[in-house]
Amino acid sequence: MQLTDKVSIITGAASGIGFGIAKRFVAAGGKVAIADINMDAARKAAAEFGEDRAMAVEMDVTSEAAVNAGVKTVADRWGRIDVLVSNAGVQIVHPVEQFPFDAWKKMLAIHLDGAFLTSRAVLPYMYEQGSGSIIFQGSVHSKLASALKAPYVTAKHGLLGLARVIAKEGGEKGVRANVICPGFVRTPLVDKQIPEQAENLGISEEEVVNDIMLGGTVTKEFTTIEDVAEIALLFAAFPSAALTGQSLLVSHGWCME
Ligand code: NAD
Repeated sequence: MQLTDKVSIITGAASGIGFGIAKRFVAAGGKVAIADINMDAARKAAAEFGEDRAMAVEMDVTSEAAVNAGVKTVADRWGRIDVLVSNAGVQIVHPVEQFPFDAWKKMLAIHLDGAFLTSRAVLPYMYEQGSGSIIFQGSVHSKLASALKAPYVTAKHGLLGLARVIAKEGGEKGVRANVICPGFVRTPLVDKQIPEQAENLGISEEEVVNDIMLGGTVTKEFTTIEDVAEIALLFAAFPSAALTGQSLLVSHGWCME
């Protein structure tokens, strides 16, 4: 699958999975906007690909003004927007009865407001072109629940609904929307959770990894950034509207459907 000169905006692409998707898209011939709140890391990431292939864009996905301005910057520079990967995300874990309301709101803002605001900002460009692919970074937690992750599970389930609405509204205008649902991938987001979950659940870090994160997989392996990036490329470059409104699990069989 190729993305020759297609323009993608990838949020949260300064680190982890988002960076891996950017790398894969560039290898497939695409141009990528690394949209992130961490501008030092975003500039460093963009520099790896060169100015003709990548740009760093300052974007807090929870800010309507920042999202609209960032998307316009990309469209002004490259003249089109073919793919949005709404990927920026964080994790905060607590039991429901102890979950601070501010932390709940922050989680929903980054994962759900971010997906809505970025989609709303790119759709007019895609409708004008008559083509586009919107990809949400869901999770196995779009399908299953885990203790301590109330807003994360809620938001990741919600992305399935938003993708299906965009798939319906965008169908006749050439725009597809799909959700990637990865299992655990070793990134800073996951590394931070291991000691936190161990403390919250009163178990060792090894037990968190072996029982909670990998216990349900068929191979006891982490999903890799490269695995997720291949699915992103499939959704981005798929040649027809047959593949829309879908969610695809890439989790070593942790969740099967
Ligand atoms: P990561 O921490 O490596 O990267 C997250 C990036 O998002 C960082 O660059 C960060 O600066 C950016 N970000 C955070 N808040 C932002 C905001 N308000 N606006 C713009 N950028 C912001 O994390 P990751 O593991 O690569 O996660 C990326 C996505 O993949 C998330 O949506 C996460 O929920 C999802 N996911 C991760 C895993 C996993 O196991 N790592 C599994 C399934 C889904």
